[in-house]
Amino acid sequence: METIQFNLPQNQIPQAWYNIVPDLPQPPAPPLHPVTHKPLSPEDLAPIFPMNIIEQEVSREREIEIPGEVRQIYAQWRPAPLIRARRLEKALDTPAHIYYKYEGVSPAGSHKLNSAVPQVWYNKQAGTKHLTTETGAGQWGSALAMACSFLGLDCKVYMVRVSYNQKPYRRALIEAFGATVTASPSNTTESGRAILAKEPECRGSLGMAISEAVEVAVKDPNTKYTLGSVLNHVLLHQTVIGLEAIEQMALAGDEPDVVIACAGGGSNFAGIAMPYIGRNLKGKSHARIVAVEPAACPSLTKGHFTYDFGDTGHFTPLMKMYTLGSSFLPPGIHAGGLRYHGMAPLVSHVISLGLAEATTVQQLDAFAAGIRFARAEGIIPAPESNHAVAEAIRQALEAKAEGKPRTILFGLSGHGHFDMQSYIDYQAGKLENYEYPEEEIAMALSGLPVVS
Ligand SMILES: *Cc1c(COP(=O)(O)O)cnc(C)c1O
Repeated sequence: METIQFNLPQNQIPQAWYNIVPDLPQPPAPPLHPVTHKPLSPEDLAPIFPMNIIEQEVSREREIEIPGEVRQIYAQWRPAPLIRARRLEKALDTPAHIYYKYEGVSPAGSHKLNSAVPQVWYNKQAGTKHLTTETGAGQWGSALAMACSFLGLDCKVYMVRVSYNQKPYRRALIEAFGATVTASPSNTTESGRAILAKEPECRGSLGMAISEAVEVAVKDPNTKYTLGSVLNHVLLHQTVIGLEAIEQMALAGDEPDVVIACAGGGSNFAGIAMPYIGRNLKGKSHARIVAVEPAACPSLTKGHFTYDFGDTGHFTPLMKMYTLGSSFLPPGIHAGGLRYHGMAPLVSHVISLGLAEATTVQQLDAFAAGIRFARAEGIIPAPESNHAVAEAIRQALEAKAEGKPRTILFGLSGHGHFDMQSYIDYQAGKLENYEYPEEEIAMALSGLPVVS
């Protein structure tokens, strides 16, 4: 029988997360204070994050031990399976070997729980009582609500209004885990009221919801803020994905020629990519590393690599990243988790150094790939994950055209069971491709902060 799953025993959940920073040829640019534009000090972050998280955020340690209780919770779904897509290979009639690392087995249905659990754990250690966050499509909100329920913290989620209305199941999931959900922009914060005063019907955005969640944390000493992507500590937690994948690919007796993942804020991409980039840097592998973003929100491929705010209200530090401008409102594509104006500074940095590359996929091509994958492999990918699936299929067909083998590993970041409305719309021909919104991006970029 042909092996299709390469499973590690539970005691091989990684003992430590991998921090790539000390292995990089150049350190990433420091975040800057939003008002003074001076490099940020750890104390500047203290109103929103506990010190143990801030230490991880600025850490230069290569390995950071995963706390025992976090590993114990991980053990419910980790090590996550590495699967060889043999039926997809046959359907494509390709000489390529296609592997996917499947994060949809987490109880939250995506990779997001990998960071939600340690973020809540460290906050609990530090004495935090309440957590706030934002969520777009609801994946991060549901993962954080679940982790808070496991560890006994109170959780408040600002959900982008358009998703709050369109995704009642995700909202119900968050509430089932005991968290409260507020549609953003809301009248519960100053930043929300300011937006509603100008635009009462505002549909909201991740940048706006971040402003609200941060504001609530800043105003209460027992409340801290959490972010589901972008920041170094979030990317760090996700490296369990790639660390496991390296061991599993060894079990499969294969070495990837290319590693692919979709990138919204950059955490799931970093999770599978950073351990492989580290391996490449040590000369142990020579894999191409590819981040895939939606053509409608192309921060890596069309953005500027410069300092920008992480939110619309300009409360966050300035981060050097690929950005479309913090006022850019991405079109309403169904891959809600990929609708962010910026990209993780660490992901931006490795791309700028040429250690990884980026490409885009149109919405209809992403869904077509997801359907093709589902018919061969039986898993309905999340709309975000479809972007990685599309690039993997494109590469497998390229290998076929060349008549050469190629080993492709891609990150399947989550399942799409809560996103079936988008599949219904796709099958009904109601989805469209969005052209690159050149004018809006030019306008948002012209408003970038000037940092001397
Ligand atoms: C949130 C999400 C993404 C995108 O977020 P990143 O920070 O880029 O990882 C991708 N896939 C799924 C399933 C998600 O929930």
